[in-house]
Amino acid sequence: MRLNPAVRLSEYFMPTLKENPAEAEIASHRLMLRAGMIRQSASGIYSWLPMGYRVLRKIEQIVREEQDRAGANEILMPTIQSADLWRKSGRYDDYGKEMLRITDRHDREMLFGPTNEELITDLFRDGAVSYKDCPQMMYHIQWKFRDEVRPRFGVMRGREFFMKDGYSFDLTVEDGLKSYNRMFVSYLRTYAKMGLQVIPMRADTGPIGGENSHEFIILAETGESEVFCHEDFLSLDPNAEAVNYKGDLQPIVDQWTSMYAATEEMHDEGKFEAEVPEGKRVSARGIEVGHIFFFGTKYSEPLGAVVQDKEGKQVPVQMGSYGIGVSRLIGAIIEAHHDENGIIWPESVAPFQVGIINLRVGDDACDEACEGMFTKLQEAGVEVMYDDRDTKAGAKFADMDLIGLPWQIAVGPRSLKNGQVEVKNRRTGEKQEVSIEAALELVTVS
Ligand code: ATP
Ligand code: MG
Repeated sequence: MRLNPAVRLSEYFMPTLKENPAEAEIASHRLMLRAGMIRQSASGIYSWLPMGYRVLRKIEQIVREEQDRAGANEILMPTIQSADLWRKSGRYDDYGKEMLRITDRHDREMLFGPTNEELITDLFRDGAVSYKDCPQMMYHIQWKFRDEVRPRFGVMRGREFFMKDGYSFDLTVEDGLKSYNRMFVSYLRTYAKMGLQVIPMRADTGPIGGENSHEFIILAETGESEVFCHEDFLSLDPNAEAVNYKGDLQPIVDQWTSMYAATEEMHDEGKFEAEVPEGKRVSARGIEVGHIFFFGTKYSEPLGAVVQDKEGKQVPVQMGSYGIGVSRLIGAIIEAHHDENGIIWPESVAPFQVGIINLRVGDDACDEACEGMFTKLQEAGVEVMYDDRDTKAGAKFADMDLIGLPWQIAVGPRSLKNGQVEVKNRRTGEKQEVSIEAALELVTVS
């Protein structure tokens, strides 16, 4: 996957809005519309314009790299599935109205997949023979459809949304929990790479019980769920966690699960007060950006996903499933990183690292300086957007702040006479008048 490394704004489709769209209730939704990243095509269904699609791809790629690193194999399953498979697990009826049901020309019942446990269990059943086929982890990153009662907040709760869903297959419960830990650690790394402070919270496991389900939550005022946790989570550093997955991951998981953290459904006020000192109790709102789950033989049994164990006995495989809300993450990142002027992208997911603003298009010196920097940055492998539009300086500054690239370089005739351009760091707001060489150095090194 290679993204276009350099674009000219005059040739780019980025319909920004000055005013706040009335339908957007929260900052991330407002800013995604205003920055020309998405447009709604039907309730909870969005088109991704160049800027939005670029960020979606960046997030997808971070998710992919961390899944690969954790030893999962990427596949691609279809969006449309057959109802028959879902009847075997009993979920065709259980899913109710959230499932979008489709009938083809032969009157066969189909559905737009809300998730893929059934399909992947069937794939594994078909291809796996013995214990030698375990452990196995597979994932895909694919569009899902859930006919949510209340789609809202833009991509945060869409009906069509982009999700990474992964699945593990093991011979024993013990091995299954090892796969679970592997995903747990990979999730910590994944969110940290996107500039998010995530908190794994004990989640409801339903009828299966046990403690092996966690929701990964970002604290945000606009979050949909109420959450409770120990304040020290906010200073734990996930980047310190195992880079290779060869060793025992249990101590890391223990460290991240030993402190109190629970969503509303799992919250126990008595336990909260007993375990967390008064000054350290955080009760806040959160956004669920991921969910992992060990569910044993819930699907392998009804769907017949069995393998031969070492004694020659046929046993159903132990499974887990692991979701990440890829499109929701864009909203979550913006909720965590913005100010009154717009988005402030963390570098790892920024659509471009640098924006060049030509304040006097048509002025030979300005044009030449901008074109020169545009070329040099491309040569240095820095992703760059050049605002070469013939519009007012004020609008250009406003747009550049709105779209939130980490660095801005403004080029105007007055400073340029002294060989200077203005470099602004979007996050700190700090501005410096420096030479062109120094500007390039500043934005390339960091
Ligand atoms: P929620 O409680 O928010 O409805 P869920 O428990 O139904 O989520 P999962 O089935 O665990 O979600 O899906 C995995 C991930 O997909 C979630 O953690 C979330 O980040 C994302 N996700 C779920 N539903 C949506 C949606 N309607 N729009 C965008 N992302 C979603
Ligand atoms: Mg849901």
